[in-house]
Amino acid sequence: MNIIMIGAQGSGKGTQAEALERELGLTPCASGDLLRDHIARGTPLGQEARPYYERGDLVPDGLVIQMILDFIRSSGGRGITLDGFPRTTPQAEALDAALRQMGQRIARVLYLEAPRALLLDRLSGRYICRAHGHVWNIKTRPPRTPGICDYDESELYQRSDDTPEKIAHRLDIFFSETIKLLDYYSAQHKVTRIDGAQPIEVVTAAVLAAVRG
Ligand SMILES: [Zn+2]
Repeated sequence: MNIIMIGAQGSGKGTQAEALERELGLTPCASGDLLRDHIARGTPLGQEARPYYERGDLVPDGLVIQMILDFIRSSGGRGITLDGFPRTTPQAEALDAALRQMGQRIARVLYLEAPRALLLDRLSGRYICRAHGHVWNIKTRPPRTPGICDYDESELYQRSDDTPEKIAHRLDIFFSETIKLLDYYSAQHKVTRIDGAQPIEVVTAAVLAAVRG
């Protein structure tokens, strides 16, 4: 059972992918982490991807898809929750074709929908600790003492790419890409839209219901 989770930064995808792992044994597969892991381990795919990654260029879709197929093979057969790939219709088509060749498919596409204003609000509240990069949020997950990490008491700061302008730009890109991707999977009757503005437990219940069918 392979799931694609679509949602803007701040929509709670990571939390819901963890719930799918806990409840249904689906292994989370964030494509950015997967890529960095291959590069760090120096696998053949990682070695091919490294020059693109280091130049800041997009890594060719074929390489990312091979990494995803490897991940499915090694994930024990219960399936994965894919996050971060595909982002475009050609990528979705290529992924479908590659999965078909190994007798796999995408069973369902979950779209965690959240209004732009809520995402902006959540994202602009993000603070990171200087010592270990622990993530806090003054709106949704505040530290006990303002400006100080609970775990290591180091100072909290806001990342330079978490300014309102940069967040707004990333959301613009997300919304323009995602609409096309939803069209592609809607034509396959696979999309479930879930209101990501609800409390986490309510979202989780909806996610599990959608996947269990
Ligand atoms: Zn910390």
